[in-house]
Amino acid sequence: MVIDFHTHCFPDKIADKALQKLSHVSGGMEYYTTGTVDGIISSMKRENVDMSVVLNIATNEHQQGSVNDFAAEINKIEGVVSFGSIYPKAENALYELERIKSLGLKGIKLHPEYQEFFVDDHFMKPIYKKIAELGLVVVFHAGIDYGYSAPYHCMPQNLLNALKWIEFPVVAAHWGGAGCGEQVIELLCGKDLYFDTSFGYAQMPKVIAEKIIEKHGVDKMLFGTDSPWHTATMEKRLLNSLTLTDSEYDQIYFKNAMKLLNL
Ligand SMILES: [Zn+2]
Repeated sequence: MVIDFHTHCFPDKIADKALQKLSHVSGGMEYYTTGTVDGIISSMKRENVDMSVVLNIATNEHQQGSVNDFAAEINKIEGVVSFGSIYPKAENALYELERIKSLGLKGIKLHPEYQEFFVDDHFMKPIYKKIAELGLVVVFHAGIDYGYSAPYHCMPQNLLNALKWIEFPVVAAHWGGAGCGEQVIELLCGKDLYFDTSFGYAQMPKVIAEKIIEKHGVDKMLFGTDSPWHTATMEKRLLNSLTLTDSEYDQIYFKNAMKLLNL
């Protein structure tokens, strides 16, 4: 069984445009689905993925409502677990978190670059408190982002600072921080958070990946792709080149995710 903990899609009407725009700002990144939820479903069939966690992102305060309505709609599809999102600087961010919970969503995605906040900024404290009360899971985009330049808002040191206030399950995407392997090993490995393996293929050196898993523990690693930007086949190529036991692979490919999502 395989659970992909990191995928993206958009409402049908805007999917094509959204992919083209995101690809363009990231220097012409290739994409491997149509960007729609149907695109995810067909790629899952093609690549033998049983379940996908779809990470939606509100990129401004007016988008929160429609993003979360879309998340709730696709959450009904078999094989899809959809996360909501808030725009942390929105006046009604706390209310929207409650609405996310009432829509039956299990978590949210926060993207500190798109949403222009530092994860360790004090203004996040009440938001983190509310998330903990509601028992939601949070996936942070972590590390650098090809569409943006420094300073980045969720580097390993920022996340380490924020962990002091965080009392909910948290996932740092892209092996704990895209392009920050050494800092992840030094600052985050062994701490109480999950890493997903998304967008690691051809980015994450094998020797760093091995060190991260060894120091962090296989019980806190989640398989993810970052579809449509990478495929399960690509990410499996990296993971399967590491020397882990069958039961360790099971943990990364689905068992840890099932536990985290209460499945
Ligand atoms: Zn992503």
